[in-house]
Amino acid sequence: MRRIRSKVLLAAAVVAATTLATAGCTSDRDDRSEFRPGAADARDPYVPGRGNGGYDVSGYRLRVRYDPATDRLTGRATVTATATGNLSRLNLDLIGMDVSGVTVSGAAARHRRDGSELVITPPRGLPRGTGFTVEVDYAGVPTAVPDGELGSGGFLHTADGAIALGQPESAATWFPVNDHPSDKATYDIEVTVPDGLAALSNGVPGERSSTGGWTTWRWAERAPMASYLTTLVIGDYRVETGTHAGRPMVTAVPASLPATGPEAASLARTGEIADFLASRFGPYPFDSYGGIVVTDSRIGYALETQSRPVYGPGFFSGGRPNPSVVVHELAHQWFGDSVSLASWQDIWLNEGFATYAEWLWTEHDGGRTAQRAFELRHAVTDWSQPAVDPGRAAMFGDGVYQRGALAVHALRRTVGDETFFRLLSGWTEERRGGVASTADFAGYAERVAARPLRPLLDAWLAGGVAPALP
Ligand SMILES: [Zn+2]
Repeated sequence: MRRIRSKVLLAAAVVAATTLATAGCTSDRDDRSEFRPGAADARDPYVPGRGNGGYDVSGYRLRVRYDPATDRLTGRATVTATATGNLSRLNLDLIGMDVSGVTVSGAAARHRRDGSELVITPPRGLPRGTGFTVEVDYAGVPTAVPDGELGSGGFLHTADGAIALGQPESAATWFPVNDHPSDKATYDIEVTVPDGLAALSNGVPGERSSTGGWTTWRWAERAPMASYLTTLVIGDYRVETGTHAGRPMVTAVPASLPATGPEAASLARTGEIADFLASRFGPYPFDSYGGIVVTDSRIGYALETQSRPVYGPGFFSGGRPNPSVVVHELAHQWFGDSVSLASWQDIWLNEGFATYAEWLWTEHDGGRTAQRAFELRHAVTDWSQPAVDPGRAAMFGDGVYQRGALAVHALRRTVGDETFFRLLSGWTEERRGGVASTADFAGYAERVAARPLRPLLDAWLAGGVAPALP
Protein backbone atom coordinates (compact mmCIF):
# COMPACT_ATOMS: atom_id res chain seq x y z
CA MET A 1 0.00 0.00 0.00
CA ARG A 2 1.20 3.46 -0.83
CA ARG A 3 -0.88 6.52 -0.31
CA ILE A 4 -0.83 9.56 -2.48
CA ARG A 5 1.14 11.90 -0.24
CA SER A 6 -0.73 15.06 -1.06
CA LYS A 7 -3.98 13.42 -0.03
CA VAL A 8 -3.02 12.32 3.44
CA LEU A 9 -5.83 13.29 5.74
CA LEU A 10 -4.39 13.63 9.19
CA ALA A 11 -7.74 14.63 10.62
CA ALA A 12 -9.30 11.26 9.92
CA ALA A 13 -10.45 9.70 13.14
CA VAL A 14 -10.55 5.95 13.19
CA VAL A 15 -12.55 4.31 15.92
CA ALA A 16 -10.38 2.44 18.40
CA ALA A 17 -10.75 -1.17 17.55
CA THR A 18 -9.85 -2.96 20.71
CA THR A 19 -13.17 -2.73 22.52
CA LEU A 20 -14.80 -4.91 19.89
CA ALA A 21 -12.03 -7.46 19.64
CA THR A 22 -13.61 -10.23 21.61
CA ALA A 23 -17.25 -9.74 20.68
CA GLY A 24 -19.08 -12.87 19.72
CA CYS A 25 -16.33 -15.37 20.27
CA THR A 26 -17.79 -17.71 22.81
CA SER A 27 -21.56 -17.39 22.60
CA ASP A 28 -23.26 -20.69 21.87
CA ARG A 29 -20.67 -23.24 22.67
CA ASP A 30 -22.10 -26.73 22.99
CA ASP A 31 -20.71 -28.35 26.10
CA ARG A 32 -22.54 -31.62 25.51
CA SER A 33 -20.23 -32.48 22.66
CA GLU A 34 -16.52 -32.73 22.15
CA PHE A 35 -17.22 -30.74 18.98
CA ARG A 36 -17.03 -26.97 19.38
CA PRO A 37 -17.91 -24.00 17.20
CA GLY A 38 -14.96 -22.39 15.47
CA ALA A 39 -14.08 -18.87 16.60
CA ALA A 40 -15.90 -16.04 14.83
CA ASP A 41 -12.86 -13.80 14.97
CA ALA A 42 -9.11 -14.09 14.33
CA ARG A 43 -8.72 -11.80 17.37
CA ASP A 44 -6.59 -9.30 15.53
CA PRO A 45 -7.26 -5.96 17.27
CA TYR A 46 -6.78 -4.00 14.02
CA VAL A 47 -9.64 -5.84 12.28
CA PRO A 48 -12.18 -6.80 14.94
CA GLY A 49 -14.59 -9.47 13.77
CA ARG A 50 -12.50 -10.39 10.73
CA GLY A 51 -11.01 -13.82 10.27
CA ASN A 52 -12.24 -16.97 11.94
CA GLY A 53 -10.85 -19.96 13.80
CA GLY A 54 -11.21 -23.73 13.76
CA TYR A 55 -10.12 -24.39 10.21
CA ASP A 56 -7.42 -23.65 7.69
CA VAL A 57 -8.36 -22.82 4.09
CA SER A 58 -6.17 -24.24 1.33
CA GLY A 59 -8.10 -22.96 -1.69
CA TYR A 60 -10.94 -20.81 -2.95
CA ARG A 61 -12.76 -21.40 -6.20
CA LEU A 62 -14.82 -18.32 -7.00
CA ARG A 63 -17.32 -18.11 -9.81
CA VAL A 64 -18.94 -14.70 -9.95
CA ARG A 65 -21.11 -12.86 -12.46
CA TYR A 66 -21.34 -9.09 -12.31
CA ASP A 67 -23.70 -6.86 -14.23
CA PRO A 68 -22.65 -3.18 -14.11
CA ALA A 69 -26.13 -2.16 -15.29
CA THR A 70 -27.69 -3.38 -12.04
CA ASP A 71 -24.56 -3.48 -9.82
CA ARG A 72 -25.62 -7.01 -8.93
CA LEU A 73 -23.13 -9.80 -8.31
CA THR A 74 -24.09 -13.47 -8.27
CA GLY A 75 -21.54 -15.90 -6.92
CA ARG A 76 -20.71 -19.43 -6.00
CA ALA A 77 -17.69 -19.88 -3.74
CA THR A 78 -16.13 -23.26 -3.08
CA VAL A 79 -13.85 -23.16 -0.05
CA THR A 80 -11.52 -26.11 0.53
CA ALA A 81 -10.32 -26.35 4.12
CA THR A 82 -9.10 -28.60 6.93
CA ALA A 83 -10.54 -28.61 10.44
CA THR A 84 -7.93 -27.61 13.02
CA GLY A 85 -10.17 -28.76 15.91
CA ASN A 86 -13.32 -30.86 16.29
CA LEU A 87 -15.74 -28.45 14.65
CA SER A 88 -19.48 -28.35 15.23
CA ARG A 89 -19.88 -25.04 13.42
CA LEU A 90 -17.79 -22.60 11.45
CA ASN A 91 -17.90 -19.00 10.29
CA LEU A 92 -16.93 -17.26 7.10
CA ASP A 93 -16.73 -13.47 6.75
CA LEU A 94 -19.23 -12.00 4.28
CA ILE A 95 -20.32 -8.37 4.24
CA GLY A 96 -23.84 -7.91 2.92
CA MET A 97 -25.07 -10.23 0.13
CA ASP A 98 -27.90 -12.77 0.40
CA VAL A 99 -26.95 -16.41 0.84
CA SER A 100 -29.31 -18.85 -0.87
CA GLY A 101 -27.63 -22.14 -0.07
CA VAL A 102 -24.68 -23.73 1.68
CA THR A 103 -23.32 -27.25 1.45
CA VAL A 104 -20.50 -28.82 3.43
CA SER A 105 -18.74 -31.61 1.52
CA GLY A 106 -21.85 -31.96 -0.63
CA ALA A 107 -24.43 -32.13 2.15
CA ALA A 108 -26.88 -29.28 2.74
CA ALA A 109 -25.85 -27.27 5.80
CA ARG A 110 -27.80 -24.92 8.03
CA HIS A 111 -26.67 -21.33 7.81
CA ARG A 112 -27.54 -17.98 9.28
CA ARG A 113 -26.16 -14.45 9.25
CA ASP A 114 -24.78 -12.60 12.23
CA GLY A 115 -23.69 -9.17 11.03
CA SER A 116 -20.80 -9.73 8.64
CA GLU A 117 -20.49 -13.39 9.65
CA LEU A 118 -21.92 -16.33 7.74
CA VAL A 119 -22.48 -19.01 10.39
CA ILE A 120 -22.57 -22.56 9.00
CA THR A 121 -23.63 -25.70 10.85
CA PRO A 122 -22.74 -28.86 8.94
CA PRO A 123 -25.03 -31.90 9.38
CA ARG A 124 -22.25 -33.69 11.26
CA GLY A 125 -19.26 -32.46 13.22
CA LEU A 126 -15.96 -32.15 11.39
CA PRO A 127 -13.21 -34.02 13.27
CA ARG A 128 -9.86 -32.33 13.63
CA GLY A 129 -7.67 -32.95 10.59
CA THR A 130 -10.62 -33.60 8.28
CA GLY A 131 -10.57 -31.99 4.88
CA PHE A 132 -13.88 -30.52 3.77
CA THR A 133 -15.39 -28.18 1.21
CA VAL A 134 -17.94 -25.46 1.79
CA GLU A 135 -19.97 -24.30 -1.18
CA VAL A 136 -21.87 -21.04 -0.83
CA ASP A 137 -24.37 -19.63 -3.33
CA TYR A 138 -24.92 -15.93 -2.85
CA ALA A 139 -26.04 -12.76 -4.63
CA GLY A 140 -26.63 -9.10 -4.04
CA VAL A 141 -25.31 -5.60 -4.55
CA PRO A 142 -21.81 -5.59 -2.99
CA THR A 143 -20.84 -2.72 -0.73
CA ALA A 144 -17.84 -0.51 -0.12
CA VAL A 145 -15.92 -0.40 3.17
CA PRO A 146 -15.52 3.23 4.20
CA ASP A 147 -12.17 4.14 5.70
CA GLY A 148 -11.65 7.69 6.86
CA GLU A 149 -7.93 7.60 6.20
CA LEU A 150 -7.74 6.02 2.78
CA GLY A 151 -10.98 6.74 1.01
CA SER A 152 -13.01 3.72 0.10
CA GLY A 153 -12.10 0.09 -0.05
CA GLY A 154 -14.23 -2.98 -0.62
CA PHE A 155 -16.39 -3.27 -3.70
CA LEU A 156 -16.83 -0.04 -5.61
CA HIS A 157 -19.28 0.36 -8.45
CA THR A 158 -17.55 2.53 -11.08
CA ALA A 159 -18.72 4.36 -14.19
CA ASP A 160 -17.96 1.36 -16.42
CA GLY A 161 -17.81 -1.59 -14.01
CA ALA A 162 -16.38 -2.20 -10.56
CA ILE A 163 -13.21 -2.34 -8.46
CA ALA A 164 -12.81 -4.67 -5.47
CA LEU A 165 -9.75 -3.55 -3.55
CA GLY A 166 -8.62 -2.51 -0.10
CA GLN A 167 -6.37 -3.05 2.88
CA PRO A 168 -6.89 -4.43 5.46
CA GLU A 169 -10.48 -5.27 4.47
CA SER A 170 -12.00 -5.85 1.06
CA ALA A 171 -12.42 -9.53 0.18
CA ALA A 172 -15.50 -10.20 2.34
CA THR A 173 -17.46 -7.65 0.31
CA TRP A 174 -17.50 -9.96 -2.71
CA PHE A 175 -16.99 -13.51 -1.50
CA PRO A 176 -17.26 -15.57 1.72
CA VAL A 177 -13.77 -15.83 3.16
CA ASN A 178 -11.62 -16.37 6.21
CA ASP A 179 -10.63 -12.72 5.93
CA HIS A 180 -7.28 -12.51 7.69
CA PRO A 181 -3.77 -12.71 6.19
CA SER A 182 -2.80 -15.50 8.59
CA ASP A 183 -4.92 -17.96 6.54
CA LYS A 184 -3.49 -17.85 3.02
CA ALA A 185 -4.84 -19.99 0.19
CA THR A 186 -4.72 -20.55 -3.55
CA TYR A 187 -7.40 -19.02 -5.76
CA ASP A 188 -9.21 -19.97 -8.96
CA ILE A 189 -11.32 -17.01 -10.03
CA GLU A 190 -13.88 -16.96 -12.84
CA VAL A 191 -15.58 -13.67 -13.55
CA THR A 192 -18.42 -13.33 -16.02
CA VAL A 193 -19.18 -9.85 -17.34
CA PRO A 194 -21.01 -8.40 -20.35
CA ASP A 195 -19.14 -8.83 -23.64
CA GLY A 196 -16.71 -6.00 -24.30
CA LEU A 197 -15.72 -5.41 -20.68
CA ALA A 198 -12.51 -6.72 -19.16
CA ALA A 199 -12.52 -8.65 -15.86
CA LEU A 200 -9.06 -8.61 -14.31
CA SER A 201 -7.85 -10.41 -11.24
CA ASN A 202 -4.79 -12.10 -9.72
CA GLY A 203 -2.45 -14.67 -11.17
CA VAL A 204 -2.13 -16.54 -14.43
CA PRO A 205 -4.76 -15.83 -17.08
CA GLY A 206 -6.79 -18.81 -18.25
CA GLU A 207 -9.03 -19.44 -21.19
CA ARG A 208 -11.66 -16.81 -21.96
CA SER A 209 -15.07 -17.87 -23.28
CA SER A 210 -18.20 -16.05 -24.43
CA THR A 211 -21.81 -17.08 -24.61
CA GLY A 212 -25.12 -15.24 -24.83
CA GLY A 213 -23.59 -11.79 -24.59
CA TRP A 214 -21.41 -12.58 -21.55
CA THR A 215 -17.69 -13.28 -21.36
CA THR A 216 -16.00 -15.34 -18.66
CA TRP A 217 -12.46 -14.40 -17.67
CA ARG A 218 -10.41 -16.95 -15.73
CA TRP A 219 -7.49 -16.40 -13.36
CA ALA A 220 -5.45 -18.78 -11.23
CA GLU A 221 -3.15 -17.85 -8.34
CA ARG A 222 -1.33 -21.02 -7.30
CA ALA A 223 0.90 -19.44 -4.66
CA PRO A 224 -0.81 -18.92 -1.29
CA MET A 225 -2.45 -15.49 -1.20
CA ALA A 226 -3.77 -13.41 1.69
CA SER A 227 -7.40 -12.41 1.17
CA TYR A 228 -6.76 -8.66 1.16
CA LEU A 229 -4.43 -9.17 -1.80
CA THR A 230 -7.25 -10.37 -4.04
CA THR A 231 -8.66 -7.90 -6.52
CA LEU A 232 -11.33 -7.67 -9.14
CA VAL A 233 -11.25 -4.87 -11.71
CA ILE A 234 -14.07 -4.78 -14.25
CA GLY A 235 -14.52 -2.20 -16.98
CA ASP A 236 -13.39 -0.84 -20.30
CA TYR A 237 -9.65 -1.50 -20.20
CA ARG A 238 -6.84 -1.81 -22.68
CA VAL A 239 -5.39 -5.18 -21.65
CA GLU A 240 -1.91 -6.21 -22.76
CA THR A 241 -0.86 -9.82 -22.36
CA GLY A 242 2.74 -10.83 -22.92
CA THR A 243 5.47 -12.72 -21.12
CA HIS A 244 8.40 -11.76 -18.95
CA ALA A 245 11.08 -14.18 -17.82
CA GLY A 246 8.93 -17.00 -19.18
CA ARG A 247 5.84 -16.04 -17.19
CA PRO A 248 2.64 -14.28 -18.23
CA MET A 249 2.63 -10.49 -17.88
CA VAL A 250 -0.80 -8.87 -17.91
CA THR A 251 -1.13 -5.10 -17.64
CA ALA A 252 -4.24 -3.00 -18.04
CA VAL A 253 -4.99 0.71 -18.27
CA PRO A 254 -8.42 2.26 -18.74
CA ALA A 255 -9.30 2.60 -22.42
CA SER A 256 -10.03 6.26 -21.74
CA LEU A 257 -6.31 6.91 -21.12
CA PRO A 258 -3.78 7.34 -23.91
CA ALA A 259 -1.84 4.22 -24.92
CA THR A 260 1.41 6.13 -24.46
CA GLY A 261 0.52 8.11 -21.33
CA PRO A 262 2.36 8.07 -17.99
CA GLU A 263 0.16 5.24 -16.70
CA ALA A 264 1.01 2.85 -19.54
CA ALA A 265 4.65 3.97 -19.51
CA SER A 266 4.90 3.21 -15.77
CA LEU A 267 3.35 -0.25 -16.12
CA ALA A 268 5.68 -0.96 -19.03
CA ARG A 269 8.61 -0.91 -16.57
CA THR A 270 7.14 -3.72 -14.45
CA GLY A 271 9.45 -6.45 -15.78
CA GLU A 272 12.60 -4.35 -15.52
CA ILE A 273 11.77 -3.27 -11.97
CA ALA A 274 10.84 -6.81 -10.88
CA ASP A 275 14.21 -8.01 -12.20
CA PHE A 276 16.03 -5.29 -10.26
CA LEU A 277 14.23 -6.24 -7.07
CA ALA A 278 14.95 -9.94 -7.68
CA SER A 279 18.64 -9.05 -7.80
CA ARG A 280 18.33 -7.72 -4.22
CA PHE A 281 15.58 -9.85 -2.64
CA GLY A 282 15.90 -13.22 -4.38
CA PRO A 283 13.82 -14.82 -7.16
CA TYR A 284 10.44 -13.30 -8.03
CA PRO A 285 7.99 -15.41 -6.01
CA PHE A 286 4.98 -15.76 -8.36
CA ASP A 287 3.97 -17.36 -11.67
CA SER A 288 2.81 -14.14 -13.30
CA TYR A 289 3.47 -10.40 -13.43
CA GLY A 290 1.43 -7.34 -14.15
CA GLY A 291 -0.35 -4.24 -12.97
CA ILE A 292 -3.64 -2.40 -13.33
CA VAL A 293 -4.21 1.35 -13.38
CA VAL A 294 -7.64 2.63 -12.38
CA THR A 295 -9.06 6.13 -12.82
CA ASP A 296 -11.63 6.14 -10.02
CA SER A 297 -10.70 9.02 -7.72
CA ARG A 298 -11.92 7.10 -4.65
CA ILE A 299 -8.80 4.92 -4.97
CA GLY A 300 -6.36 7.29 -3.29
CA TYR A 301 -3.63 4.67 -3.05
CA ALA A 302 -1.82 1.87 -4.81
CA LEU A 303 -2.12 -1.67 -3.45
CA GLU A 304 0.16 -4.66 -3.94
CA THR A 305 -2.60 -7.09 -4.99
CA GLN A 306 -0.78 -10.33 -5.60
CA SER A 307 1.12 -10.57 -8.89
CA ARG A 308 -0.89 -7.62 -10.24
CA PRO A 309 -0.82 -4.39 -8.19
CA VAL A 310 -3.55 -1.80 -8.64
CA TYR A 311 -2.50 1.85 -8.98
CA GLY A 312 -4.86 4.74 -8.22
CA PRO A 313 -4.96 7.75 -10.56
CA GLY A 314 -3.15 10.23 -8.30
CA PHE A 315 0.29 8.71 -8.89
CA PHE A 316 0.28 9.82 -12.53
CA SER A 317 -1.24 13.26 -12.20
CA GLY A 318 2.13 14.90 -12.85
CA GLY A 319 2.00 13.72 -16.45
CA ARG A 320 5.26 11.77 -16.11
CA PRO A 321 5.88 8.05 -15.51
CA ASN A 322 6.10 7.10 -11.83
CA PRO A 323 8.47 4.15 -11.48
CA SER A 324 8.85 4.57 -7.72
CA VAL A 325 5.27 3.56 -6.97
CA VAL A 326 5.80 0.51 -9.20
CA VAL A 327 8.95 -0.29 -7.20
CA HIS A 328 7.01 0.00 -3.95
CA GLU A 329 4.15 -2.29 -4.99
CA LEU A 330 6.43 -4.83 -6.66
CA ALA A 331 8.67 -4.95 -3.57
CA HIS A 332 5.58 -6.05 -1.68
CA GLN A 333 5.40 -9.14 -3.88
CA TRP A 334 8.28 -10.40 -1.71
CA PHE A 335 7.51 -8.48 1.49
CA GLY A 336 3.81 -8.75 2.28
CA ASP A 337 2.53 -11.01 -0.48
CA SER A 338 4.89 -14.00 -0.52
CA VAL A 339 5.97 -13.49 3.10
CA SER A 340 2.80 -12.22 4.79
CA LEU A 341 1.82 -10.80 8.13
CA ALA A 342 0.73 -13.05 10.96
CA SER A 343 -0.98 -9.99 12.46
CA TRP A 344 -1.55 -6.41 11.30
CA GLN A 345 0.51 -5.01 14.17
CA ASP A 346 3.61 -6.10 12.24
CA ILE A 347 2.75 -4.17 9.08
CA TRP A 348 6.19 -2.50 9.10
CA LEU A 349 7.48 -5.86 7.77
CA ASN A 350 5.55 -4.98 4.60
CA GLU A 351 5.91 -1.24 4.43
CA GLY A 352 9.42 -0.80 5.81
CA PHE A 353 10.87 -3.06 3.12
CA ALA A 354 8.72 -1.59 0.34
CA THR A 355 9.85 1.90 1.32
CA TYR A 356 13.45 0.72 1.51
CA ALA A 357 13.10 -0.75 -1.99
CA GLU A 358 12.29 2.76 -3.22
CA TRP A 359 15.55 3.98 -1.68
CA LEU A 360 17.46 1.17 -3.40
CA TRP A 361 15.80 1.97 -6.73
CA THR A 362 16.55 5.69 -6.50
CA GLU A 363 20.23 4.90 -5.94
CA HIS A 364 20.21 2.35 -8.78
CA ASP A 365 18.56 4.94 -11.02
CA GLY A 366 21.33 7.48 -10.40
CA GLY A 367 19.55 9.49 -7.71
CA ARG A 368 20.50 9.90 -4.08
CA THR A 369 21.99 6.94 -2.30
CA ALA A 370 20.15 4.82 0.24
CA GLN A 371 22.66 6.08 2.80
CA ARG A 372 21.75 9.70 2.03
CA ALA A 373 18.02 8.92 2.16
CA PHE A 374 18.65 7.29 5.55
CA GLU A 375 20.48 10.35 6.93
CA LEU A 376 17.85 12.78 5.66
CA ARG A 377 14.99 10.73 7.04
CA HIS A 378 16.74 10.15 10.36
CA ALA A 379 16.97 13.90 10.83
CA VAL A 380 13.23 14.51 10.45
CA THR A 381 11.75 11.43 12.11
CA ASP A 382 9.20 11.69 14.89
CA TRP A 383 10.51 9.03 17.28
CA SER A 384 7.32 9.01 19.30
CA GLN A 385 5.62 7.06 16.47
CA PRO A 386 6.54 3.37 16.66
CA ALA A 387 6.82 1.13 13.62
CA VAL A 388 5.69 -1.97 15.51
CA ASP A 389 2.09 -2.03 16.76
CA PRO A 390 1.44 1.59 15.77
CA GLY A 391 -2.31 1.30 16.43
CA ARG A 392 -5.01 0.81 13.80
CA ALA A 393 -5.25 4.53 13.04
CA ALA A 394 -1.51 4.77 12.29
CA MET A 395 -1.00 1.53 10.38
CA PHE A 396 -0.33 3.50 7.19
CA GLY A 397 1.60 6.27 8.93
CA ASP A 398 5.19 7.47 8.68
CA GLY A 399 6.15 5.51 11.79
CA VAL A 400 5.47 2.29 9.89
CA TYR A 401 6.88 3.27 6.49
CA GLN A 402 9.81 5.52 7.33
CA ARG A 403 10.99 4.05 10.62
CA GLY A 404 10.59 0.64 9.03
CA ALA A 405 12.93 1.66 6.20
CA LEU A 406 15.33 3.31 8.66
CA ALA A 407 15.49 0.08 10.67
CA VAL A 408 16.22 -1.94 7.55
CA HIS A 409 19.11 0.36 6.60
CA ALA A 410 20.42 0.43 10.17
CA LEU A 411 20.47 -3.36 10.04
CA ARG A 412 22.40 -3.20 6.76
CA ARG A 413 24.96 -0.77 8.20
CA THR A 414 25.40 -2.99 11.24
CA VAL A 415 25.83 -6.39 9.58
CA GLY A 416 27.43 -5.24 6.31
CA ASP A 417 26.21 -5.53 2.73
CA GLU A 418 27.17 -9.14 2.14
CA THR A 419 25.33 -10.46 5.21
CA PHE A 420 22.43 -8.04 4.74
CA PHE A 421 21.53 -9.11 1.20
CA ARG A 422 22.12 -12.78 2.06
CA LEU A 423 19.73 -12.28 4.97
CA LEU A 424 17.03 -10.71 2.77
CA SER A 425 17.11 -13.39 0.08
CA GLY A 426 17.34 -16.13 2.69
CA TRP A 427 14.34 -14.73 4.54
CA THR A 428 12.18 -14.50 1.41
CA GLU A 429 13.17 -18.04 0.48
CA GLU A 430 12.65 -19.58 3.93
CA ARG A 431 9.29 -17.88 4.49
CA ARG A 432 8.04 -18.03 0.90
CA GLY A 433 4.27 -18.57 0.79
CA GLY A 434 3.92 -18.29 4.57
CA VAL A 435 3.40 -15.76 7.33
CA ALA A 436 5.83 -14.20 9.80
CA SER A 437 6.09 -11.82 12.74
CA THR A 438 8.59 -9.18 13.82
CA ALA A 439 10.01 -11.68 16.32
CA ASP A 440 10.45 -14.23 13.51
CA PHE A 441 12.38 -11.69 11.45
CA ALA A 442 14.59 -10.63 14.35
CA GLY A 443 15.33 -14.25 15.18
CA TYR A 444 16.20 -15.03 11.57
CA ALA A 445 18.46 -11.98 11.29
CA GLU A 446 20.33 -12.99 14.44
CA ARG A 447 20.81 -16.51 13.11
CA VAL A 448 22.18 -15.39 9.77
CA ALA A 449 24.35 -12.62 11.17
CA ALA A 450 25.39 -14.74 14.18
CA ARG A 451 25.11 -11.81 16.56
CA PRO A 452 22.45 -10.17 18.76
CA LEU A 453 20.29 -7.77 16.75
CA ARG A 454 17.07 -7.50 18.74
CA PRO A 455 18.20 -4.45 20.74
CA LEU A 456 19.16 -2.69 17.50
CA LEU A 457 15.84 -3.48 15.83
CA ASP A 458 13.94 -2.52 18.99
CA ALA A 459 15.64 0.86 19.13
CA TRP A 460 15.06 1.66 15.47
CA LEU A 461 11.50 0.30 15.30
CA ALA A 462 10.01 1.20 18.63
CA GLY A 463 12.36 3.29 20.80
CA GLY A 464 11.22 6.74 21.90
CA VAL A 465 14.45 8.54 21.10
CA ALA A 466 16.62 8.87 18.00
CA PRO A 467 19.20 6.06 17.87
CA ALA A 468 22.76 7.06 16.99
CA LEU A 469 23.61 6.58 13.32
CA PRO A 470 25.43 3.27 12.90
ZN1 LIG B 1 3.10 -0.41 0.76
